Amino acid sequence: MPTITENIQNLVISIPQIVKLVVVSKTRSIKEIIEAYNTNQIIFGENRALELADKHSKINLPIEWHMIGHLQTNKIKYIASFVSLIHSVDSFNLLKEINKEAKKNNRIIPCLLQVFIAKEETKFGFSEKELFDMLSSIEFINLKNISVHGLMGMATFTDNIEQTRREFKSLKNTFNKVKSDFFQNNTDFCEISMGMSGDYKIAIEEGSTMVRIGSLIFGERNYTNK
Ligand SMILES: *Cc1c(COP(=O)(O)O)cnc(C)c1O
Repeated sequence: MPTITENIQNLVISIPQIVKLVVVSKTRSIKEIIEAYNTNQIIFGENRALELADKHSKINLPIEWHMIGHLQTNKIKYIASFVSLIHSVDSFNLLKEINKEAKKNNRIIPCLLQVFIAKEETKFGFSEKELFDMLSSIEFINLKNISVHGLMGMATFTDNIEQTRREFKSLKNTFNKVKSDFFQNNTDFCEISMGMSGDYKIAIEEGSTMVRIGSLIFGERNYTNK
């Protein structure tokens, strides 16, 4: 069995330097996280707010902690003081609540808007229409404690690579439209978070700027904790 260090070394060779690697550490131990950190990785992603808060409190390293999973409004308070980026903003209501918690903490929280691109009802995210409606509203413009840094999407879990590619292309397309209509002169709006262990190469070909990778680094997770 290759070690975490070897897995990361092999992985980073296949990722262009401008694409950021989010090491997905959900379900992994502090010891495993520290091993990954020691290979020069600084961005770690978790999909549960309480697990994220717990690991942040126990690991005293300059890690950029990202929230990548569906976030319930009543859990924002556990991560609002330190989270570096929330990838999974999937409703206007959630964005407003993040803004409130950010304000309480006297900070601006960077966020990505999650777009629904898959053919699976279990996945979350905005439709393109919902995105445009929100971004055009006065209420959105008045949110001063969040900053939108781009979009995130998850492709359908499938072996059909043409379908995966189509879904990533559609996210890139939506990104381009949103950028030109709402963020033309905003250099912060620059990230497309797409690609996981099974599909990150296709995602990079289709314009990903951030890949979120867990099992290729740490091995298969023992229990499903999507
Ligand atoms: C678990 C997870 C990943 C990483 O999945 P792997 O297949 O283990 O690389 C990426 N993004 C999100 C939102 C996840 O929940």
